Amino acid sequence: MFIKGSENLRYEGSIYRPPSEAWSLIIQATIGCSHNKCSFCSMYKDKKFRIRKTEEILDDIKEARMYYRSIKRVFLADGDALIIKTPELLKILNFIKEWIPECERVGIYASPESIMIKTPEELKLLREAGLGIAYLGLESGSDQILAYMNKGADSEEIVKAGLRIKEAGILLSVTLISGLGGKKLWKEHAVESAKALSKMKPDYLGLLTLMVEPGTKLYDDVEKGQFQLLTPQQVALETLELLKNIDAEGCVFRSNHASNYLSLKGTLNQDREMLIKQLNEAIKGQIDFKDEYLRGL
Ligand code: SF4
Repeated sequence: MFIKGSENLRYEGSIYRPPSEAWSLIIQATIGCSHNKCSFCSMYKDKKFRIRKTEEILDDIKEARMYYRSIKRVFLADGDALIIKTPELLKILNFIKEWIPECERVGIYASPESIMIKTPEELKLLREAGLGIAYLGLESGSDQILAYMNKGADSEEIVKAGLRIKEAGILLSVTLISGLGGKKLWKEHAVESAKALSKMKPDYLGLLTLMVEPGTKLYDDVEKGQFQLLTPQQVALETLELLKNIDAEGCVFRSNHASNYLSLKGTLNQDREMLIKQLNEAIKGQIDFKDEYLRGL
């Protein structure tokens, strides 16, 4: 849900949001990503990171109010909007409460850094002001892969940040990227990711599948033959290994992103066997994988 028909349209560049925020009002609180260095990511390459002025953000909220009678959810974009200082974020959240009283949840992208620079008390204040869910990219639980991908944090740091979000009473949604270990490290990716996720036990786990975009370092590595992409069957095997090793009771598991070869949904740990059965059927060719041309980011 974007601010439509606005003369003062303030969206800058491409806007990304998690699949579960498809019907949310998108408010661009930051431009780009404060890290912007991951080898696989092209999302914000065209943007220089900055935090927008709070007044501009509040104006956007007022404007959206004019166009929509009912707004149940708001998502604060771009990447890592949690980096905004707590007093400013509280102003934004309180303004949403005042102008959009029917809003049930505000979501945000977070990074290990933006979480850890906030004290547990600050995160609780943000939750009380309406911050309901934070989306955190683990990408991989393997430190070797995270270092190669220039994620800027290791697995332990990401787990610690995720736990801090949960302790503040904010829902934690974690993203993992299938295929991020390539052919060389697929098993390490699956096993180490399962370990990290078992420690974090996120409320939601979203699985994306790696797509390499021109203009990224990873794209060049693939071109040079230094990184080999997995086939759809190999991605399914990797997910199978992940599911066999994960212990995250109550975590809602989804692999229904446009990039995924196979759409899976269930709740861990109770649906583990059902998910494994579907993966085995796909590996045996009894369920079709999505065609390459239908995939997207
Ligand atoms: S993956 Fe996330 S943290 Fe890394 S550059 Fe992209 S938006 Fe930033």
